[in-house]
Formats: sequence, C-alpha cells, structure tokens
Amino acid sequence: MLMAGAERAAPDALYAVLEQLGGELYIDSQKDIPPDVRAALRAAAERETTPVARRVLATTLKAIEVADDHRMLVCQDTGIPIFWITIGRGVTIDGARMQEALRRGVERATATHPLRSSIVSPLTRRNNQTSSGVGIPIFHIEFSSDIDYLDILMMPKGSGSESMSFLKMLLPADGVAGIKKFVLDCVVDAAGRPCPPTIIGVGIGGSSDVCMTLAKKATLRPVGSHNADAEVAALETALLTAVNGTGIGPMGLGGETTALAVHVEQAWTHITLNPVAVNMQCWRGERRRASVYPDGRYTIGY
Ligand code: SF4
Repeated sequence: MLMAGAERAAPDALYAVLEQLGGELYIDSQKDIPPDVRAALRAAAERETTPVARRVLATTLKAIEVADDHRMLVCQDTGIPIFWITIGRGVTIDGARMQEALRRGVERATATHPLRSSIVSPLTRRNNQTSSGVGIPIFHIEFSSDIDYLDILMMPKGSGSESMSFLKMLLPADGVAGIKKFVLDCVVDAAGRPCPPTIIGVGIGGSSDVCMTLAKKATLRPVGSHNADAEVAALETALLTAVNGTGIGPMGLGGETTALAVHVEQAWTHITLNPVAVNMQCWRGERRRASVYPDGRYTIGY
C-alpha cells in the first residue's frame, strides 16, 4: 500500500521545466505573433481600399517580419504577464509550486533577456525590474477532463489595449440591443488608443468579475474561430460588421479594419442582471502555449 501522499508527489524535474517554460513563453509570445493573427492582418491589408489603412497594415506586417528576422520584440510594451492554465485529467501537480516556478521563469527571463519590466506598485510606482509584484503574474486556473496534460497559455497584456476595458451592468430590459450598443460605444470611445485593428473580447452574463474575465478570455481565441453556440456566434458576426462600419480603421487613422475579430464568451447570469464587458487586444494578438505532460515532456504552440 502506498503511503498517504506518496502517489501525489510530482517529480522535481517537472517544476524545473515549468520554470524554464514560464520565461520562454513570456519572451516568445512577444516575438512570434500567432499564425492566425498574421493571416488576418495579411487578409485585411489585401482587402483594405483606404490608402492610409493599407500603409498602416503594411507597416504592422513589416514589424512582424523584422521581429522574425532579428528575434526582436514586436512592440516595446512587455505587458502584464498572465497565465491561463488548464489542468487535465489525471495530472497531479502542486499548484502553489507550479505558480512559483512560472513566476520565477518570468523573473529570470526579464533579468537575463533583458526585458523592460512593466510592473509597478499602484501606490508607490516602485518597479522591482522583475515583471512581477504583488498579484503578478496573474494566474487563471481551470480543470478539464478532455486533456491529460497541463495546458499553459501565456498572454502578456499591453497597457494600450488593457486600458480599453469596460464593464456595464445592463438591465435585462436592455436586451441584446443594449449589449450591441455598449460594445459599439466602447469601440468608438477607444478609437485609436488600443492600437487597432484589435481583437475585441466581449463577456456576457455571469457576475461582474466573471463577465470581465470572460471578455479577456475571449481575446485569446484564434482569430477566425467562433463561439460553439450558434446564437453567440451570430452576435460575434453582427458585432464585427458593426465595429468595422465605424471607419476608425488601423491605428485610428481611418479604414475598414477596426477589428480583426469580435469574440464573445458567455456565462448564465441572475434573472435581474444583464452584464456586458469589453476587453480589447491590440493588433499583435500575442499568446504562446505549452502542453506539459506529468513526466516533463512538452510541446509548444499558440
Ligand atoms: S497596445 Fe499593443 S501594439 Fe500598442 S503599444 Fe501596447 S502592446 Fe504595443
């Protein structure tokens, strides 16, 4: 018979891998733009008829090319490091140790790369030059019986797009029309500040905190994907058409491509509530993913 806890201990090697990956994912997400984002930018550049919009999109594609050629960051903003972690079926992990390993990886990468640390105390504005601090990196942790590994998705969230985060507790009587109006009002208000063309994440339902988290999570979906719920997917399509009809365009300089995508994620809510949240992701749409198995093997993707 096994002693209590003996079968639960994951080998030390796994945490060493997690520390290494914490740094790699943070750096590589800022150098290597996901293929779906590249494809969407290329398609927009070909589609655009406004000369200034075509020039802006050509410049963004050039920035990606330069980053590829020289292994440079695509933008100077290293963002807030955010990990979205899904723990699969049968994966045994010490959660506190996992978070600590990933945080150390981010800190080490910041020191050795070197990267600009974008993280400060909200009161003193002190910067430890580690890209970490109280409550940072941010960890979102979920569980899934569909996978048998640890899915780690890193998103460094730049301030230009993160500043454009909005929440409104609408009334049920405001309906879907109220949701659409709120999203459009946010986009018009944000104009060029989130570095469009953006990926617009919309959360609907839940409580206030869940709604905001859904909006951010929605920005992580590959561009071109749709919500599995047909009604939510139809809302995504309607919103994208409306957003691109505003004429704000790339970098807010005019054009037909204000957003590359609108992604909506939902949770059911209280009978008297109709929460809606908007979180914008700038054109670089950075994210990087690792699938890590309990024995330390891993694969890298987006
Ligand atoms: S919003 Fe994005 S592209 Fe704009 S400065 Fe920030 S990280 Fe860079």
